[in-house]
Amino acid sequence: MADKYLNLVNSALGKTAAKKLGLPRPAHLRRYQPGAPLVPGPVLVVGAGAGADAAATTVLDWGLDVRRHADPRGKYGAVILALDEVAHPDDLSGPVLEAAAALKRLRPGGRMVTISRPAEAENDPATAAARQGVDGLLRSIAHELRGGATGNGILLGPDAAPSSSSVAGALHFLLSGRSAYVDGQFLRVDGDGATIPADWDKPLSGKVAVVTGAAQGIGAAIARTLRRDGADVVVVDIPPAGESLAEVANAVQGTALQLDITADDAGRRILDHALGRHGRLDIMVHNAGITRDKLLANMDESRWTSVLQVNIAAQLRINEQLLGSGQLSEAPRIVSLASTSGIAGNRGQTNYAASKAGIIGMVRASAGQLADSGGTINAVAPGFIETAMTARMPMATRQVARRLSSLQQGGRPGDVAETVAFLASDAAGGISGQVVRVCGQNMVGA
Ligand code: NAD
Repeated sequence: MADKYLNLVNSALGKTAAKKLGLPRPAHLRRYQPGAPLVPGPVLVVGAGAGADAAATTVLDWGLDVRRHADPRGKYGAVILALDEVAHPDDLSGPVLEAAAALKRLRPGGRMVTISRPAEAENDPATAAARQGVDGLLRSIAHELRGGATGNGILLGPDAAPSSSSVAGALHFLLSGRSAYVDGQFLRVDGDGATIPADWDKPLSGKVAVVTGAAQGIGAAIARTLRRDGADVVVVDIPPAGESLAEVANAVQGTALQLDITADDAGRRILDHALGRHGRLDIMVHNAGITRDKLLANMDESRWTSVLQVNIAAQLRINEQLLGSGQLSEAPRIVSLASTSGIAGNRGQTNYAASKAGIIGMVRASAGQLADSGGTINAVAPGFIETAMTARMPMATRQVARRLSSLQQGGRPGDVAETVAFLASDAAGGISGQVVRVCGQNMVGA
């Protein structure tokens, strides 16, 4: 559904009125366009040490204009703030204040990306304090940025070298328009399982992907995005959705499989279809999901059971069949749709939140099993997305929900699809067992 307020405040008259009245002024986001520049201007890399040097070399290799010192008159497309070597909160001051001055000159749609290490229990207290400090810092920066600019962080796991392809893959995503609605989040990178694609505009060339619940909404957007990125796509949905499913399959030049994912042999049938019609299966996207909202006090068994069955039990069974078959391609990718309701809870959604939190538990616990084959499994947690579901909300509730994020607007199905496509790519090989929120830094569960 169109956000008329967003269009209004971006008109000449609306802009002035909203400014005078102190109303929210959401900006048109810089979304990915094949062939468009990665960032809207020079990249300033702040910080000394391995993280800063590696980031500068990486972005220079991508042909970007890189600066190592803030110019008081310069305009920037992105600021990379490397804090991977901080060992005391005092170490934050110099680089943070240098980056602060440059943030005023970040172009609309610009990017701020921190590179740091996670605070672990075994760190000495001062190091842990400095590292955890980056968490609060980055999340606050993201709240402060305007003009559609976003702030996100990369966390280097103990075995992730700053110069690794895994870090480069995460950095490319966060700088690009693909992450337009990802804000205030950290991507943790471990190991060096990533491969940089030969063509950043076709990172899924040669891959075969399956998307469940693809007859409409976010699933259909995921199918289109995976196809745009070069994958052959199998779209799955229940038989009553067969007609729209066939339309999506035609649009993405893929094949359709009518299947209720709660069937006992759903995993086997998905595999047989993908292998039989496309010769391989590299990417499994578990998108199908349902809501049957009711306060828990009024919850009946059918509402509870159906949501748990479709949203989590079916995925567990399908994954078991796929992984147990030994027939997936090398380094397979599994991406599941969670929800911010599964992180923060939501009134009337005990069943849904339990199922979506279950997905988060599932991906964390499955990462080790996939690692042996170079595979990854991750969850994407959308916030308020402009779909048929959110269009049915009462107008006032919808308006409030839209403005409750740092980007002051709802996301689009395509925004969720971009993050799914990134996690499905070889460039995301260093990311597994994680939950990436696509929520514009919504205050819900922030
Ligand atoms: P939607 O209702 O528009 O589409 C879901 C699709 O799943 C439908 O085509 C439906 O037929 C299919 N489906 C349902 N049960 C199935 C089954 N048993 N087997 C096969 N297919 C089945 O939903 P959406 O808004 O596009 O959401 C997609 C996913 O994103 C869901 O998992 C949802 O929980 C999650 N999500 C959505 C939002 C949002 O704002 N729309 C927010 C957070 C999370």
